[in-house]
Amino acid sequence: MTGITIALSKGRIFDETLPLLAAAGIVPVENPETSRKLIIGTNREDVRVVIVRATDVPTYVQYGAADLGVAGKDVLIEHGGEGLYQPLDLNIAKCRMMVAVPEGFDYARAVRQGARLKVASKYIKTAREHFAAKGVHVDLIKLYGSMELAPLAGLADAIVDLVSTGGTLKANKLVAVEDIMPISSRLVVNQAALKLKREALAQILDAFAGAVKKD
Ligand code: ATP
Ligand code: MG
Repeated sequence: MTGITIALSKGRIFDETLPLLAAAGIVPVENPETSRKLIIGTNREDVRVVIVRATDVPTYVQYGAADLGVAGKDVLIEHGGEGLYQPLDLNIAKCRMMVAVPEGFDYARAVRQGARLKVASKYIKTAREHFAAKGVHVDLIKLYGSMELAPLAGLADAIVDLVSTGGTLKANKLVAVEDIMPISSRLVVNQAALKLKREALAQILDAFAGAVKKD
């Protein structure tokens, strides 16, 4: 494959990456929201976009099936980042990784008393590191979605999840009790591709770097 393959997930990452691609002179010819195609061409003969699950972006880039991609810090932490060069924080798809509990639950007291907490999350590695650093004993329960349901259904005492407006927490009578870290998406590049396709990738990286919005 001599061209450039870019791995993106549909939804906010695709939408928020479009202006950065445009700055690099790359315009996808279809919208993954309306097209069922998983490989999308662009105005540039040598550039294509593959549409994958957000959590699969690092894997495609790690193995070189895509030369570059855009992935959230949350996803990159869980993946581990092996084989990936992460040159640029794109400052898009911003939110916060937080601990949340049901409204009536006295989290601070439970922690003070050294209670063993059941914590449900899609982000097991992040959660494990966070509670280990605080010396809180937890049993972690891996989920793949709808974390907000876990405390309501009695599966867990707390969740670790991404929060942007807090609307979903509120709608489910949950409150954020700890802020773990800010999250944004990063450009990830395959390390071998960086050498083999240096010129083409440098052009894209430079254009992205110039188009990143600062806070
Ligand atoms: P799906 O929603 O299809 O199950 P997903 O949650 O992995 O998959 P997205 O919802 O598109 O995929 O999220 C992609 C990335 O966007 C996440 O990895 C995270 O970095 C960021 N993100 C997730 N939720 C929010 C949010 N509410 N606000 C801003 N950024 C978010
Ligand atoms: Mg989502």
